[in-house]
Amino acid sequence: MKKIARTLLHDYPYIARFLLYASQSIKYNTKYLTKIIKEKIKRVIRKLQSNKPRVLQFPITYKCNFDCVMCGMQKMSQQRDMDIEDVDKILSNNLFSNVRSIGTNGGEPFVVKDIENYIKTIINRLPKLRNIFIITNGYLTERILNKLEIIKKECEMNNIKLTVSISVDGIGTMQDKMRGRKNIFNSIENTCISISNAPGKYCDNFGVLCTITKVNIEKINEVDYWAEKNKIDISYNIATIHKRLFNEDRFNHFSVLTDEHFKTLATEWFYYKFRRTNSEKYYSIYRYLLDGKRIAKCDYQVDGITLMPNGDISYCATQSKVIGNSINKPADIIFESNLDYRNRLVSKECNNCSHYSGSVAVEYYKEYVDDIIRKPFKYRI
Ligand code: SF4
Repeated sequence: MKKIARTLLHDYPYIARFLLYASQSIKYNTKYLTKIIKEKIKRVIRKLQSNKPRVLQFPITYKCNFDCVMCGMQKMSQQRDMDIEDVDKILSNNLFSNVRSIGTNGGEPFVVKDIENYIKTIINRLPKLRNIFIITNGYLTERILNKLEIIKKECEMNNIKLTVSISVDGIGTMQDKMRGRKNIFNSIENTCISISNAPGKYCDNFGVLCTITKVNIEKINEVDYWAEKNKIDISYNIATIHKRLFNEDRFNHFSVLTDEHFKTLATEWFYYKFRRTNSEKYYSIYRYLLDGKRIAKCDYQVDGITLMPNGDISYCATQSKVIGNSINKPADIIFESNLDYRNRLVSKECNNCSHYSGSVAVEYYKEYVDDIIRKPFKYRI
């Protein structure tokens, strides 16, 4: 039967293409419809619930053992990080009682010697927490693996999923160049492979994050090949201005957006990734590079908050100004009394922001579906 069908489809390519078109069309239009319904339900639930944040970004330290081309955090290395008592007190504020997901990074979170105690405090203080995401540079292999085992057990006991990501922006000397330190790749690779080879031991989900800049774009295929060879999930972003990272003065040096040649390379890269994976994230980054317009949604417009290592609070880490310091003033008062500023931020800045690009916003989803289904068939038939 299969053989007959294959022969028929081979002999009648137009019918084969039509069937493929129809199946793709049903698949993606169903997704589109589901997305519209989900979005409507979400909006109703949000109206009924409080506007307290569900997503918290919490870099726990300014300190880092690297000095990456797209990061200005070294300027802040002398700043005092909050101690555990500060974190405990701040997170006990009612504002955080609805937080479901927390993203922890730095600086480098594993330079904090008792990171597991910070995580325990976070878990104790956030009753609705279901996901912890940790981003590390992966350099301190032994410490990272030891601490992750402890953190994973703590998460398991509290029914929390732990996702770990390691930043890999280049292979061999390219990683050195991106990180501002020599001979680091082997340690990072060891950490990646150790975690990847022991599923469930150090975390529930593991992957590599690659940030694209002018410096590494021409060798980005090497990272892709390395990840594929080691069977490690990889996700790409473009480096952007980030108030949390104090990197505005480095923008010209690192950003592909400031040079047509590098921008074209990045556009082609994300188009290629989109075509291979149909990923909404890659589609939205590709469209951003092509049109300069954001079509991705962002949790931080309505659901997020950023808590800095010194207690400063901002609505998002990218464009939001600091709206107050939660050591000196209760976090809920800071958050509520600046909501007008958040509305202005969303209306002025979000359209031009490339960060946190993930799923395509419902109002642009039809364009995504069209690009997946219609264009390729238009060219082929
Ligand atoms: S400026 Fe960017 S990161 Fe901040 S809320 Fe808007 S889209 Fe999200």
